[in-house]
This record gives sequence, C-alpha cells and structure tokens, in this order.
Amino acid sequence: MASLNEIPLSRPDITSAEIDAVTAVLRSGRLSIGPVLEQFEKLVAARTGNEFAVGVNSGTSGLHLALMAMGIGPGDEVITTPFSFIASANPILMVGATPVFVDICPKTLNMDPAKLEGAITPRTKAIMAVETFGNPAHFDAYEQIARKHELPIIEDCCEALGCTINGRQCGSLGRVGVFGFYPNKQITTGEGGMIVTNDRRIAELCRSLRSQGRPTGGEVATLGSQNWLQHERLGYNFRLSEVNAALGVVQMKRLDEIIAKRQRVAEMYIRHLAGHPEIILPNVADGTTVSWFVFVVRLVTGYTSAERDRIITGMQRHEVGCRDYFPCIHLQPFYRRLLGFKPGDFPIAEAVSSRTIALPFSNDLTQRDVDFVCRTLDLMIKRENLSRG
Ligand SMILES: *Cc1c(COP(=O)(O)O)cnc(C)c1O
Repeated sequence: MASLNEIPLSRPDITSAEIDAVTAVLRSGRLSIGPVLEQFEKLVAARTGNEFAVGVNSGTSGLHLALMAMGIGPGDEVITTPFSFIASANPILMVGATPVFVDICPKTLNMDPAKLEGAITPRTKAIMAVETFGNPAHFDAYEQIARKHELPIIEDCCEALGCTINGRQCGSLGRVGVFGFYPNKQITTGEGGMIVTNDRRIAELCRSLRSQGRPTGGEVATLGSQNWLQHERLGYNFRLSEVNAALGVVQMKRLDEIIAKRQRVAEMYIRHLAGHPEIILPNVADGTTVSWFVFVVRLVTGYTSAERDRIITGMQRHEVGCRDYFPCIHLQPFYRRLLGFKPGDFPIAEAVSSRTIALPFSNDLTQRDVDFVCRTLDLMIKRENLSRG
C-alpha cells in the first residue's frame, strides 16, 4: 500500500532504544503485571504532576474506568464537546450516563466557556473537558465554573501530553486525567492509556477495575499473591502488558526530544502557510504551550464540506495523507439514533468540522516534505476555486 513517495498522515518514532527495551521484556519471561508497567506509571505521574498513575490498554478504557471510579452511571449527565474523537463521549454512554454537548469556541476549538454553564442541570455529575488537538485553552475558565457548581473535571488529555497552561501540566488540571498512547499520539505504546490523579481512592478503584475487580489497597495483586482469585467488584481486563509498557518507558524518557521535533515540524508548516488567504492556522492561546499532537488547518468561511473533501481526496491522490479531523460526534449515525441529534444542533462545531484538514504530521518530516505538502494543498485549493468558476 505505502509507496516510497507517500507522506503518511502520521508515523510513529521508534528508535533502537524502544526495540531493545521490548526485546528485553520478551527475554525476561515476564510479559504482564511486572516492574516495567510500574516504571512507566511513575514516569507519567512525575512528569504530569500527579501522585498516582494507572496504566490501561487504551485511552478509551481509561476514560471508562475514570467515570466508573467517580460513581457516574445511569441517570447522570456528563458535559463534553461535540468536536472531538468519538472516545471523548462513548465512555459516558458505556457507563450508562448521558453525554451533554456544549458548542465550541471557533478560535480555540474547545468548549466555549460562555456556553458551558447553561448546560449544567441537577443531573450533571462531571465535566469531561478535552484539550482538542492538544490546546489547553479555556481550562482556567472551566475550573472556575466547575468550582462554582461543585462539579469534578475529568480531563480527556489524550491529545495533550506535555502541553501546559499557566505553567501547569495537562493531566493535572482536573480531578482525574486520561492519556492515550495510540501510534499517532505524542508518545505511543502501540495501544495503551494512563489514568492520572492525586486522588488515592480513584487510583485504587481504577487499579481494581482494570484487573477483574481484584482487591484494592496496598500493592497491585500479582499472580503469586493470595488475592489473585478474589474479586470484590465487577471489573474488566483493561491491563497494559509489559511489552507495551516497555515502549512507553523509552518514549516517556524521550518526551522532550519528541516535543522539540514536533515543534520544529509545526514551525515549518506555520512559516510556509502563514498569510495564505484561504487557510486558518491552529491557534496557540496566551499562557499555553502546545506539545503538538496533529497539525490541523481550516479552510476559510465559504468552503463547503464537499469542497474540503475533494481537496483531501486530491491530496491523497498525490500521496499526501490527510484527514477530516473530526466529524462531529453528535452527528455520528448512532448518536443521532440514540439521542436524536440533528444538523444545526451545534452550529459552530459543525461549521468548523466541515472545513478542517489534518496535514501529515510526524517527528521526522523534512522541510522538503512540508514544502511538498503545502504546495500540493495550495494547488488543490486553486483547482477547487477554478471549478467553482
Ligand atoms: C486518542 C484519543 C482518545 C483515546 O483513544 P484510544 O484509541 O482509546 O487510546 C480519547 N480521546 C481523545 C480526544 C483522543 O484523541
């Protein structure tokens, strides 16, 4: 499938250090529930300003357990954004609660704080706040609203490892935060996720729930321990293997290097595209630092989603990997069926979503790659304008 000339949408950055670490685990004979996961957890906790970290097999699993550990279930409402990857809302449904969407700010693409308060009802149990594309804008405002209404914030920081707002690390902005380590994230474990918190009770419950509801407190139950076949609650198997954790340990140690490489690529794009009359660049809000997850540009007002889609298809034909990050969650077929959403419900999210183009973004993109992507994008936009007449 991949030709030599293809510039993929995303490509993981795996060095011989990761390969050696994975090999060492395979040779050790201990493939699950061992010291490497613990080491990975300690690294993520320390880096993000948290006392506890609980590794799981995906970001989605992490959000699911975080909601469960906070006692959220049927009859409850959780506020979140309609403009995100679907895993920001699905875990709310998985625990039997109802997602309540708040339209976004057209500049930052995060939930508009001015509209957040109006979505709070007596059934609201939490705010699931997302740093969309790694942008922590408005989190200070969310915090004020949450405090006023005595609601906890669950931070879906799956796109925000290494981002900061007013000097604070993403992952430490709410009661609990969840990172994801799918291959397109800042760091990857193949598949994986991590729950972070300073709340001991939430951490212990998540530890139990990720491993078949085994007893909480003290150490993690291990194969040899007395408690291995004792189950105190309905739990899942959401564990992260030692093989995956080994990848995570090395990637975590390389995080600063990875963030710097991604910053370099983002700057090349910004230099090339700044001032383009048809393109809106990603916004970096005051007081925030972005550890780039993706590089998503937008076509200016006036372009239709059909035109955007043709531009993406044209780019793909030139072997430039692009995607429409993200279609609105509330307009996904089963959200319409289940909750009765329809076009027009969240007009800003819909307008933004219809004009986004995620450009290829990986640590090792060269100036030549970026030039080619930008020239191709410019060409496809011009072609679309010509066919408009
Ligand atoms: C990646 C991501 C997740 C989690 O995804 P997994 O594939 O389950 O690890 C959750 N929320 C957002 C916003 C994401 O980008």
